Amino acid sequence: MPNSEACFSVHCCLSTVFVILRKEMGGVKRATRNKYLGRRRNRNLSRSKVSTDDTAGYADVSNADPRPPSCDQSSASKTKLSFFGISLDSKNEHVSTPADIQSDCYFFVQKDVLQYFFDKVLCYSCHSNSVRFDIVRDKSCGFAVKGHLKCTSCGIVIFEEYLCKRVYDSKANRAPFELNMLAAVAFRGIGCGYSAMEDWCGNMNIVHCQNSSAYQKNCERLRVASQETFEKVRDESVEKIFKEYEKLGVLPDDNGVLDIAVSFDGSWQKRGHSSHNGIGSVIDLLTGLPIDFHVLSNFCHKCRYFESIDDVSDIWKERHLENCPKNFEGTANAMEVECAKVLWRRSEANFKLRYSTMLTDGDSKSFDAISEENIYGVDRHIVKEECINHISKRMGTALRKLVETCKAQGRSISGRGQLTKEKIMKIQNYYGRAVKDNANDVELMKKRIFAILFHMSSTNETPKHVHCPPGKKSWCFWQRAEASGKDPGDHKNHETLPVEVGKTLVPIFRRLSDDGLLKRCSRAKTQNANESMHNLIWRYSPKGTYVGRKTLETAVALAVCQFTMGATYRSMLCNILGICEKAPLKAFSHKKNLKRLKYAEKAASKGQKARRKQLKFRTAAKETMLEHKEGITYGAGEFD
Ligand SMILES: [Zn+2]
Ligand SMILES: [Zn+2]
Ligand SMILES: [Zn+2]
Repeated sequence: MPNSEACFSVHCCLSTVFVILRKEMGGVKRATRNKYLGRRRNRNLSRSKVSTDDTAGYADVSNADPRPPSCDQSSASKTKLSFFGISLDSKNEHVSTPADIQSDCYFFVQKDVLQYFFDKVLCYSCHSNSVRFDIVRDKSCGFAVKGHLKCTSCGIVIFEEYLCKRVYDSKANRAPFELNMLAAVAFRGIGCGYSAMEDWCGNMNIVHCQNSSAYQKNCERLRVASQETFEKVRDESVEKIFKEYEKLGVLPDDNGVLDIAVSFDGSWQKRGHSSHNGIGSVIDLLTGLPIDFHVLSNFCHKCRYFESIDDVSDIWKERHLENCPKNFEGTANAMEVECAKVLWRRSEANFKLRYSTMLTDGDSKSFDAISEENIYGVDRHIVKEECINHISKRMGTALRKLVETCKAQGRSISGRGQLTKEKIMKIQNYYGRAVKDNANDVELMKKRIFAILFHMSSTNETPKHVHCPPGKKSWCFWQRAEASGKDPGDHKNHETLPVEVGKTLVPIFRRLSDDGLLKRCSRAKTQNANESMHNLIWRYSPKGTYVGRKTLETAVALAVCQFTMGATYRSMLCNILGICEKAPLKAFSHKKNLKRLKYAEKAASKGQKARRKQLKFRTAAKETMLEHKEGITYGAGEFD
């Protein structure tokens, strides 16, 4: 019973079979279209193929792989993809025609309906319409089912074959089926594993699911292929980095090694500090192209299990160590530093690159660790740069801490008209702009930072806006009014702070306008690229779901490829996996790239940026208002 109701996906090779049948049988009746066959998408394209038209009606579901949308930073996306010739104007020229797409696709068929289809077909031998379709149960390999077509009247077997192709894989005795391979790629691509595949099959009435060991084998193939794809993509990226630096007149040294500036960041699979998996990535600051990554894991199920057993054979241990996922002994916190060391140590030998400038998030110990090690020699110091987003966040954090400290001392400075959440956010924003807008000029940066304090302590009687940035687009209302010849209005309508509160902020402003600190911000770069790449990685391997190191390595490689060159990397991956690239995949990748670019462009537009900022301020203002209205409702130990 379940078998007869089973859906299974059939490759279009089935359509070819129909053609053969028709040719040999001469008078084949056309299958009558009924409502179950679905709507024909494009009549013209089916006509262009030799009478495969009626099967096209089944093509409701293609083998499209629903990957998560990219979360990259807008302008960065555009720049990166342009290195690989992908832009919003790129025409559909590399993409196949709709006819190709239809002829290459997979689709779902309900077994009953297929029998109904064959009921209309005549046996080529006895010309009776007793053709019976069946699935050879014990010969099915996962999603690849073996079809059996027999005439019950004369007993002749018309056809017995697998309904999908095998991929070319020289290492396997019998090459795996393309459909099984694609299923593993698709599920890993949406951050799901075998149990998700089983659930999906169950819910879809698909009885022929891959078994666990076949799935694992396919995942291992995918892991190897994903690393190879990543290496290819990375080689192209490195080549492009060399070219871009050359354009700026920066050339490699006599040994062909190029000094570049990179941003480094680490990320963990689990929030908090108990994560078993951690990654570190290096992205070139000039082009935004990722160069390298490293995955660390401090856990192995098998090792932990066998630790509790005394009589484990040495042979087992030896054999296991070759494949043990654990490659790090230490806490999650120490992983970032270790990743940095590994990445820095291999840069020169592997890619002829020296990461001589490192952009980090300030509190990172990685920089100290690699400078201590003198990785590139005693006379080659690595320069540290700060991510301006993290620097601005430091201002916000310091101000919030100040509010807390004052509160602990019984002095509230966060009430109405004082240092509210909204004002903290504004100060943080102005500080960020002072740094960003005046990159390369530390003195001006400093002046604009202190201007915030003067601006905040201005009154109608004593306006102190001379140091505020001038112009119609200034954040300072006074300067804006001045630039457009209008009356600035009352100070009460704008952000001002009581003098006593302003004074308490001075030490924080001094600390955060330190010359050394500002110099390290002079490139005004952020770690946004690393952060969005990590987001993408955690979509391929969701946070909170523990996976072994190898699975995570697959996810990271795929995510980095997608981050670098968009969905186009899938063509490379398919080639390496031995799956000939199909038209539907090409079309899908093209569509994905365009969607990413459009989204990126929209997010980068000034209007959108302003809207996001406004929303943040509004939320903060609302919170302050509510807090004021409700009084303090919660605080640790407050009501003891
Ligand atoms: Zn027959
Ligand atoms: Zn182990
Ligand atoms: Zn001002």
